[in-house]
Amino acid sequence: MPRPVSASVSLTALAHNLAEARRRAPGTRIWAVVKAHAYGHGLPAAIRGFTGADGLALLEFDNARRLRALGWRGPILMLEGPFGPDDVAMAGEIGLSLVIHDTTQIEWLRGHEGKAIDIWLKLNTGMNRLGIDPEITAATQRELALLPAVGTVSLMTHLADADRPGGAAAQLERFDRATLDLPGSRSVANSAALIDLPQAHRHWARPGIMLYGSSPFADRSAASLGLRAAMTLRSELIGTQTLKEGDTVGYGSTFTAPGPMRIGIVACGYADGYPRHAPTGTPVDVAGVRTRTLGRVSMDMLAIDLEPAPDAGVGSAVELWGEHVPVDEVAASAGTLGYELLCAVAPRVPMHVVD
Ligand SMILES: *Cc1c(COP(=O)(O)O)cnc(C)c1O
Repeated sequence: MPRPVSASVSLTALAHNLAEARRRAPGTRIWAVVKAHAYGHGLPAAIRGFTGADGLALLEFDNARRLRALGWRGPILMLEGPFGPDDVAMAGEIGLSLVIHDTTQIEWLRGHEGKAIDIWLKLNTGMNRLGIDPEITAATQRELALLPAVGTVSLMTHLADADRPGGAAAQLERFDRATLDLPGSRSVANSAALIDLPQAHRHWARPGIMLYGSSPFADRSAASLGLRAAMTLRSELIGTQTLKEGDTVGYGSTFTAPGPMRIGIVACGYADGYPRHAPTGTPVDVAGVRTRTLGRVSMDMLAIDLEPAPDAGVGSAVELWGEHVPVDEVAASAGTLGYELLCAVAPRVPMHVVD
């Protein structure tokens, strides 16, 4: 018997969420963001779930090659651009579009002799992570357009606070001022902006997290946004204990039974990607009943309260997150984001594609 922990990825949910993104941004083309192995869901599932996307965006060159090997023929955008001259050569060879966010990268394009590469010139409009100074946008775009290695030169930026009302206004204004009257397609919106900020939709949007059925907003659930959880992380009870008042649970003895109670031990721990910082009370589903974790999460196991599920025993199904327990609720309890939990599912957890 394999250890009972596993993850499943629903193609129907991925396709539904992509359709939801399209519905919210009619006329806008969609780069489905599949970096970090499609936010932990795996590239094979992403390719099948996102067949309707206009392009796929990621930043790992080996994974871009894998997308081509898996049969993706459409556009691929490399979100951090080339990390060196070899990446430019690969972009020409397998047809990748490249973000250029620093003038150093332009030098690597100069020597390129293969097929012309489409460029997305990235402006730093206030996040101060990647991007050129907006002041030099026109000159840099002209410089790029003159290179024989370069095809089209589109314009993009990334928003730091699109998940807060009004949080994107200053960046949008800087972007528009710097790009006024310049040629080329535009791309600005991540998931939060796609949902909340129609003025940021432009020619191409770049949703990531919403496509996986997790909310980009701290105060709005994925379900309330019409999104469906793509990943379900599940396991089983492999043991039970009956506690007396005063008994403690797990490392550090951080949970003390207030009275007699029955608990279950789940085959899932932080080495599977479950957050170690999830405290007592983090939601979990056992045998279709919602309950809570108890005590510290260990490497391979965690403990849950069986009081609401008296019929649960060894072999009972446990959902750590997915359709019934939103990953965003688990993340909030652990002081992190759905993004981090989805990306962190460990390689030892078998992943199945369903539908
Ligand atoms: C990750 C990423 C996105 C997607 O962001 P979400 O918040 O997951 O929608 C969009 N654009 C860039 C440049 C990114 O790195």
